[in-house]
Amino acid sequence: MRLSKAFQPTLKEVPAEAQIASHRLMLRAGLVRQTSSGIYAWLPAGLRVLRNIEQIIREEQDTIGAQEVLMPTLQSADLWRRSGRYDAYGPEMLRIQDRHGRELLYGPTNEEMITDIFGSSVSSYKQLPKALYHIQWKFRDEVRPRFGVMRGREFLMKDAYSFDADYQGAVNSYRRMMLSYLRIFQRLGVRAVPMVADTGPIGGDLSHEFLVLAPTGESGVFFDAALEEQDWLGRPVDCDNEEDLAAFFSSVTDHYAATDEKHDEAAWAEVPDDRKREGRGIEVGHIFYFGTKYTESMGIEVSGADGTKFSPHMGSYGVGVSRLVGAIIEASHDDAGIIWPDSVAPYKAAILNLRPGDEACDAICEEIYGADPENFMYDDRSERAGVKFNDADLMGHPWQIIVGPRGAKEGKVELKRRADGERFELPVAEALAKIG
Ligand code: ATP
Ligand code: MG
Ligand code: MG
Ligand code: MG
Repeated sequence: MRLSKAFQPTLKEVPAEAQIASHRLMLRAGLVRQTSSGIYAWLPAGLRVLRNIEQIIREEQDTIGAQEVLMPTLQSADLWRRSGRYDAYGPEMLRIQDRHGRELLYGPTNEEMITDIFGSSVSSYKQLPKALYHIQWKFRDEVRPRFGVMRGREFLMKDAYSFDADYQGAVNSYRRMMLSYLRIFQRLGVRAVPMVADTGPIGGDLSHEFLVLAPTGESGVFFDAALEEQDWLGRPVDCDNEEDLAAFFSSVTDHYAATDEKHDEAAWAEVPDDRKREGRGIEVGHIFYFGTKYTESMGIEVSGADGTKFSPHMGSYGVGVSRLVGAIIEASHDDAGIIWPDSVAPYKAAILNLRPGDEACDAICEEIYGADPENFMYDDRSERAGVKFNDADLMGHPWQIIVGPRGAKEGKVELKRRADGERFELPVAEALAKIG
């Protein structure tokens, strides 16, 4: 994309209500615009980040055998009456009436709908286990929408649902999701630590929230440093092997990690002092086993091997896709702007033409840009060099390819790594090879 043609409206001034860095930077860099309280439009560069995150989530969910579906945003109130949640959910639910007076709602989550779809299509234990996910907009009428996309009213969530014949099957499904989530967050370039969370009336140890560490997080967090040193992508786990899954799961849950809500001073005291980490975190994911809560209340049964009917065990697994854009920036920025991890960056590099009109500069820039126009943002505007440097830093491209008249004459460019400011003077081909 050529910046002269791009729709990436940057801002110098941001609204006073943008209290935290990620919100300010998303507005300043032209990634989103608020259209109503807690509701945002995604502009081209922001949308590219959102899509990159979605794609990583898809790949990792598919890898553990989950299958993608797409359910609608609007749901019928009657569906939620069957589970008993229509009245229980409260004012966070946006309730709507159509022209015939039928009651609808904008889905805040999809347990009821997926249970209904599953129940009307599956009748035998032989069709289990199943894991289904979708990536769809949700609406929750939050009392206090704030921090931009971090706590929006309309937001994008990946939600998955598992169906198993028995408790042990559900445990395996839960553990596969735990693995998938750790891999997703590692690929996204953020550290998200899994922490024990409330299980409600179900009890047990099968509820975890994943928190990205950032001083502006809404939750206090306490965890063992052992959890931040792991390489989940480099660790092979056979997802069809119960023992392998169990060993993997203990390697996570053997280490203390809890939010302030579940913090246990006695257990914390046993963590060696040099491994104690305390701080704040942003909830970007939540996995939960809830047994037969929905299948039973909605009357969903399948037949077992001996012909008797039973209600399958379920779990649900959410990732805050749009919240992650804010959380990643919260965890990765400096005074000058965003620092995108390579895997989610809207463009892999900015090409900064310091002297448009100079023959050598233009030729080199066009050559580089032509190599991958989809993934380079070419700043071909007739702006001062300082403006280009500032905008590239603000937009957070992982690399900047700086093309000035002196180097250009020798066929060289300057490469700058946004994350650490490291600079390399290289011939064009070597610069391209380094960016990859
Ligand atoms: P929170 O505690 O932040 O209100 P939640 O526990 O209500 O979140 P879940 O029901 O667990 O949220 O939903 C799954 C995920 O969806 C959350 O982990 C979070 O990442 C994301 N999410 C929830 N509410 C919002 C929101 N208002 N805006 C953006 N993302 C959200
Ligand atoms: Mg909430
Ligand atoms: Mg929560
Ligand atoms: Mg939650």
